[in-house]
Amino acid sequence: MTSPIVIAGGGPVGMCLALRLFQSGRDCVVLEAKAQGAYYQDHRALALSQASKLMLENLDVWSRIPAVTPINSIHVSQKGSFGRSVLRASDYDMAALGYVLSYGHLMQAIDQVLSEYADKSQAAKITIHYDTEVQQIIPNNRNTELHIQQGGQAQTLTTALAVLADGGRSLKDIPGIERINKEYGHHALVCKVAAELAHDGIAYERFTPMGPVALLPNGEREFSLVWTGETAGIEPLLELSDDVFLAQLHQHFGDRVGRFTQVQKRICFPLKLSYLSPVTAPHLVVIGNAAQTMHPVAGQGFNVGLRDAWELAELIMQTDEVNLGAASFLQTYQASRQQDTQRGLKFTDFLVRFFSNDIAGLGGIRSLGLGLFDALTPAKAHLIRKMSFGSKG
Ligand SMILES: Cc1cc2nc3c(=O)[nH]c(=O)nc-3n(C[C@H](O)[C@H](O)[C@H](O)COP(=O)(O)OP(=O)(O)OC[C@H]3O[C@@H](n4cnc5c(N)ncnc54)[C@H](O)[C@@H]3O)c2cc1C
Repeated sequence: MTSPIVIAGGGPVGMCLALRLFQSGRDCVVLEAKAQGAYYQDHRALALSQASKLMLENLDVWSRIPAVTPINSIHVSQKGSFGRSVLRASDYDMAALGYVLSYGHLMQAIDQVLSEYADKSQAAKITIHYDTEVQQIIPNNRNTELHIQQGGQAQTLTTALAVLADGGRSLKDIPGIERINKEYGHHALVCKVAAELAHDGIAYERFTPMGPVALLPNGEREFSLVWTGETAGIEPLLELSDDVFLAQLHQHFGDRVGRFTQVQKRICFPLKLSYLSPVTAPHLVVIGNAAQTMHPVAGQGFNVGLRDAWELAELIMQTDEVNLGAASFLQTYQASRQQDTQRGLKFTDFLVRFFSNDIAGLGGIRSLGLGLFDALTPAKAHLIRKMSFGSKG
């Protein structure tokens, strides 16, 4: 089992990289710890930008996603103040500001494309090994070694370019790469809810002293809820009966969509900001959530990860096999992604810190800030461009 390019982690970012490489005629091997289809039941909502939609269209994935809900407007407000800002797609001649879909549906669509590619005899090949866990990655100046477990057997693989896209969960120490972590001491509770009023394609982002709460339109009448706050305030929400939970959500979020009428399974996870410095080592590039994990407040995580995959694929296409993973290749990749990633990290961190505290006086400034921002059309257009297309937008 070998290839000049080995991708460790077959989540959406790793698989999109594999598809793009295939389109450009380059072979690769993907190593995925889980079984095929294990993620189809993951209902996590992803908010995708226009640029992400374009990339998924190019990969032939977009039209196969079973359900996509467009976001026509984003309503940003702050609890306890009158300041608010509304961003509307129609004001910027856009079909939508973004799109909401489930992680499981995205993985299903990706797998469909992969199986069609496998059926055709093509110049390039994607070889996927499911139930295969990468346990250690050792980069050196000639290649990268991957130590893997497959069917109870240990194996070692060497490759000119290893791409780590494991979501940041498994591999801790890679020589020469430092992980910087910032714990917020906050958790996010996510679930689907239904409300009395139709969503009309409006996404709500509400900043409260407890933490931001987002409602994304997802499906005909439902919303995906992301309710964040200090761990001690969020974890007990899991224990409440559905009725009490819905009543507390109404009290916390306010009356914009009426009362909440239904809730599906609630899950909770810790929030952190975490990134690698640098994101490369000799013959190794780290992409997606493995390279940077953001607070979900601005829905940027997958979008930034997809741009990592896209730009890496573009660079691979321009590089001869002998130069894959060499110093100049790594420098070019790092330079091309640094600004976009840092902007995404700083923006989400700013939103969390500025809007989620109770410091006396800040409330008025925030309220004024949102009101002013609403009146400043160029500022809104700039924000929408950056959120849609990243730092190069
Ligand atoms: C609740 C929640 C809400 C979110 N909302 C949004 C949003 O609205 N918009 C947005 O853009 N982003 C959002 N994100 C972030 C988004 O889910 C991630 O950015 C995205 O999943 C990253 O994709 P990835 O492929 O890098 O990592 P992952 O999706 O984590 O995939 C990693 C893959 O690697 C595999 N793997 C792990 N370890 C190993 C190993 N050792 N060997 C082999 N394979 C391995 C895993 O099984 C998995 O398939 C959200 C995240 C969460 C948790």
